[in-house]
Amino acid sequence: MAARIGLIAGIGAIGVAMSAFSLTHSAQQQGISLTFLANEGVLLSAGGKGVLIDGLFLKYERGYAVPADSTLAALQHARPPFDSVDLVLVTHRHGDHFHPAPITAHLRANPRATLITSRQVIDSLRGYAPARALPPGRLMSRTMRPGTRRREVVSGINVELLGLPHGGHPRVEHLGYIIELGGRRVLHVGDADVSEEAFASLRLDTSRIDVALLPSWAVTGRKERRVIERWIRPRQVVAFHVGEGDAGKTERAVRAAMPGAITLVRSLDTRRW
Ligand SMILES: [Zn+2]
Repeated sequence: MAARIGLIAGIGAIGVAMSAFSLTHSAQQQGISLTFLANEGVLLSAGGKGVLIDGLFLKYERGYAVPADSTLAALQHARPPFDSVDLVLVTHRHGDHFHPAPITAHLRANPRATLITSRQVIDSLRGYAPARALPPGRLMSRTMRPGTRRREVVSGINVELLGLPHGGHPRVEHLGYIIELGGRRVLHVGDADVSEEAFASLRLDTSRIDVALLPSWAVTGRKERRVIERWIRPRQVVAFHVGEGDAGKTERAVRAAMPGAITLVRSLDTRRW
C-alpha cells in the first residue's frame, strides 16, 4: 500500500513537472507580433517584452516615408503599443533609421529600455545635449567586424549582433540583428549589402531564421535573391524600406519576384508568426 501511495505521489510529481514544462514551453513558443512603422522601423513583441528596431527617426529627405505624427508622439512618450520596449536597436546612423531627438525622448520616458547600436550612433547621441542625462549603462556601443557574430542577453532577450556592411557606404558602421522572442528568430539586416561576400561567412542558413526583414530592393534584385535563398534560407521573407508613393509598384514587383514574400508599406500594419 505504502509503495502504491508512493507510486501515485510519484506520478503526481511527474504531472506537476510536466505541466510546468508545457507552461514554460508554450510561453516560449507563443509566437511573435510585428508592428510596422515606416522605412525599416518595426516593433517586435511577445510575452510582455518588446524590441524596437530602426523605429525612432524623423522626416528625412524627400521621398522617404515617416510614421504619422500621432505614432511619432506615442513612440517618443513610450505610450501603447510602445510602452513595453526593453531593447532599442539601431542598425546605423542614417536619418531614415535614426535621429537623436526621438530616441532620447523615448529612452527618457521608458526607463526599462536599453539601446544597443554602433559607436557612430552612440557618438551622435552623446553630441546631443538632452541625451547627456541618460545613464551611460543604458547606451551600449558595439563595433562588429564584417562577417562576425556576437550573442548577447539583454533584459532577458537573446539578441545576436551581425557585422554586415552597408551597401555603398563603406564608412558607415552597420549592424544586423537576430532577435529571439516568442520562440521565433527574426533577422533584421538594415541597409546591408545583400551579397555573397557579406553573407556567406555568417552562415545564417544554419541559424533557423523564421522571419527575414530585408530591404525591398534586395528581394526584387536577382543576385540578392540568390543570396537570400542560399545564405539566409528564412521561412518567411518580408520586404520593407519602400519609398513614399512607391507602395503599389513595389508590392507588385516583390510579388512577381518572390510570390511567398510579404511587403510592409502601411504604417501600423501588424503581423504575427
Ligand atoms: Zn542607410
